[in-house]
Amino acid sequence: MTTLRRLAVAILLAIASTASGNDVLRYRVSVPESLKQLSVEVCQGSRVVREFSSHAADAGQFLGVPDTRVTAGLIEIRHGRIRYKGAAGQCFDYTVDLAAARTADNSRLARGQHEAVLMRSGLWLWRPSSQPADTSIQVAFDLPEGHGVSVPWQPAHGSARDDVYLVSGSPSDWPDLVAVGRLHTDTITVEGARLRLAVLGAEPTISKPDMSSWIREAAHAITTLYGRFPLPSPQILVVPQGPAGEAVPWAQVLRGGGAAAHFFVDQTRPLDEFRQDWTAAHELSHMLLPYILRDDSWLSEGFASYYQNILRARAGMLSRETAWKKLYDGFQRGRDGTSGATLVEASREMRKRGAYMRVYWSGAAIALMADVELRRRSGGQQSLDVALGALAECCLPSDRAWTGIEVFELLDDLTTGSVFMQLYDEYAQSSSFPDLGPTSERLGIDHRSSRFRLSSDPEASGLRDAIMSLPVRRPVDARSALERQEIGSLD
Ligand SMILES: [Zn+2]
Repeated sequence: MTTLRRLAVAILLAIASTASGNDVLRYRVSVPESLKQLSVEVCQGSRVVREFSSHAADAGQFLGVPDTRVTAGLIEIRHGRIRYKGAAGQCFDYTVDLAAARTADNSRLARGQHEAVLMRSGLWLWRPSSQPADTSIQVAFDLPEGHGVSVPWQPAHGSARDDVYLVSGSPSDWPDLVAVGRLHTDTITVEGARLRLAVLGAEPTISKPDMSSWIREAAHAITTLYGRFPLPSPQILVVPQGPAGEAVPWAQVLRGGGAAAHFFVDQTRPLDEFRQDWTAAHELSHMLLPYILRDDSWLSEGFASYYQNILRARAGMLSRETAWKKLYDGFQRGRDGTSGATLVEASREMRKRGAYMRVYWSGAAIALMADVELRRRSGGQQSLDVALGALAECCLPSDRAWTGIEVFELLDDLTTGSVFMQLYDEYAQSSSFPDLGPTSERLGIDHRSSRFRLSSDPEASGLRDAIMSLPVRRPVDARSALERQEIGSLD
């Protein structure tokens, strides 16, 4: 082979290896000050994507494509899909009529609020109909002065711009929320994470420092489980809603593009009411677990309901006694709401049946039982905190849906071996509220009489305090702690 041919082969191999490596499909979204229309440019990588679609049913109504692109034969639109006919490395563009999407009847894709728009990404993010496994999607925004964007995706590492995001591999039909417009943004740093907070503007103006300190306090409380926040950089969105009966009338955690918490608040209320509210601790506690399928929402809602009280006691927002009282009041509401259906049935049809109390507090009771049993079996070396720390270490963030059995089997693998699945087997298909009798006895909690009483027995009060106080353990030691203990006991 001549030197020249060798060189040519080397170049071809280099090109081929670039093509088979990670390829990037780049989107650039230009946002005008009027927020009436988005212009989206899509640039192909070395591997051409031929077809693009949106999972949002109505998105096609608001899609516009410049005639010149169509007539030039670069793209065509057929059957609700954009078909690309150009070459690798070329770009095409389209527009999205935001003004029409905001005012469309029954459109759940976008709504305007305080000089900003809240929308599903599916309104404007036309993705590859089938995304090649080794092609990633990056989205960059061109924003007018004074405007910001809040997305669930993680910032793209290594990008020269700080407003470039890597679209996650979570299923594209999982709901998400993107905000663009006049936003106050802040980065809240706690151990292990940088939470990306965005607060929509409002009249009267909400205090951004207040919102930051409210979220920081709740996020810091989460780090008391195992020394760090479970996810590296979640989206946190605060949307002022005006006067309401409480500081946080509603909130949600969505999973599309990564776990994100959205709080819809009464911005006229003082910071102290936000700090007293349980919602932030509850929503951020959802991030301790991956997304769990609806049949087992008792697990996700239960663990969040359990921790919303424990975390506030640990943060000093509630006395320990009040936190126990709130847990047991919740269990009573759960017991009162238990009728007929099994826990899985109640979870599956929670909205239809209005079975919220049954689902949330059965799950919280199971969390408490698991926590107490882990501590008992391990002589205090293990706990629900430690188990969830090990789960975060192995498996978070996760882009897929989990069943309750998968999570409980994994937690058993990561700890003493059978605590979680025993509880699952006993209660998932049971139509009774979990039996807290032996657990309450161990905790020295008498909740059967009309007066709620905590015993002064040192062992019981020590166990109660251990649950409500700050643990000092590292997640990676979940298993080795027990092994060390067992090895130690052989001496
Ligand atoms: Zn919840």
